[in-house]
Amino acid sequence: MGVLERHWIMGWIIFLFLLPIIHGWGKDGHYATCKIAENFLTGEALAAVKALLPAEAEGDLAAVCSWADEIRYKAHYRWSSTLHYADTPDFRCNYNYCRDCHDTVGRKDRCVTGAINNYTMQLMSEHDDSGLYAVSYNLTEALMFLSHFIGDVHQPLHVGFLGDEGGNSITVRWYRRKTNLHHVWDNMIIESALKTFYDKDLTAMIQAIQSNITDAFVDEASQENCKSTVCPDPYASESIKLACKFAYRNATPGITLGGLKIIGSSCYAYDYFYSRWPVVESRLAKGGVRLATLLNRIFSEHKSIAEE
Ligand SMILES: [Zn+2]
Repeated sequence: MGVLERHWIMGWIIFLFLLPIIHGWGKDGHYATCKIAENFLTGEALAAVKALLPAEAEGDLAAVCSWADEIRYKAHYRWSSTLHYADTPDFRCNYNYCRDCHDTVGRKDRCVTGAINNYTMQLMSEHDDSGLYAVSYNLTEALMFLSHFIGDVHQPLHVGFLGDEGGNSITVRWYRRKTNLHHVWDNMIIESALKTFYDKDLTAMIQAIQSNITDAFVDEASQENCKSTVCPDPYASESIKLACKFAYRNATPGITLGGLKIIGSSCYAYDYFYSRWPVVESRLAKGGVRLATLLNRIFSEHKSIAEE
C-alpha cells in the first residue's frame, strides 16, 4: 500500500471517528421532538412538509430540526439568534408576552413565541388568496424555523430569568464535567438518559417516549383555548413554571448536579438527574405532539375556508 493510500485511509478513519461529534448531542432534543411530530402528521400535512423540505433532508423533517441552531451565528442570520428564547424578569415564574417578548435592544416580538407566531403566519400565507401576503416568504426556512422554535419553547430554560440568561451564566458540574445550567437542560440530561437507560441508542429513546404517549396525553397537549392557528404563550408559561420548580431548584452556582454522593460506606445518587429526566421526557413529547397539531392545522386544505 502506497503512502498516499495510507493517508487517504487514515483520513477516512479520522472522519468516521469524528462523525458522532458532528452529529453531536446538542441535536438530540430537537431531533426527538421532530421525530415524534412526524408520527402524528396527517397524510396531507406530511406531503406538504416533504414538498417544502430542502433536498439534504431527504424527506425527513427531523434531519433539519437543528438547522436554526447551525446558522444562528452566521453573519447572514445573526438577527435570528434572539428568536430561540424569551427571558422573564429575575425570579418571576410567569410569562407575559408584552413584558417579555423583545430582543436585547427592546424590539417587540423578537423572541421565541413571537417567532412561532410569525413563521406560522408565513406558512399560512400560502393558502391565502386575498393578496394581503404579496411578500414572498421563504417557506422552506419558515418550516425549519417553526419546527425548531416549537422545540425550544418547550425547553424550560429557554424561558428563564434575564439576569442569568436562562441559566447560561450559572456554572455547575454535571457529574465531573464543568458546564452551565442551561447546557445541562439542553444536552446533559438527555445525554445521561441515553447512557443510563438506552445504551446510547437515540432511536430506542424516542420509541420509548412515543410508547408512553397516550390518547389522553395527546388530548391534553393539543387542547388549547386558542382562537388563531397557534397560541404559543401557554407553552412559554409552562416552561418558566417548570424552570422555577425543577431547573433552578437546588441548582446553586458551583454545585455538582448528577454523580454520586458518598457518605460513609454508602453511595447515593444525586436525585437531580432522576427527578428531572421525566420532566424532559414530557416536554419532548409535548413539543412533538404540538408541532404535529400545528402543522396539521397549517397544511389542512380546508382550514382557511373553515376560519372564514
Ligand atoms: Zn434553538
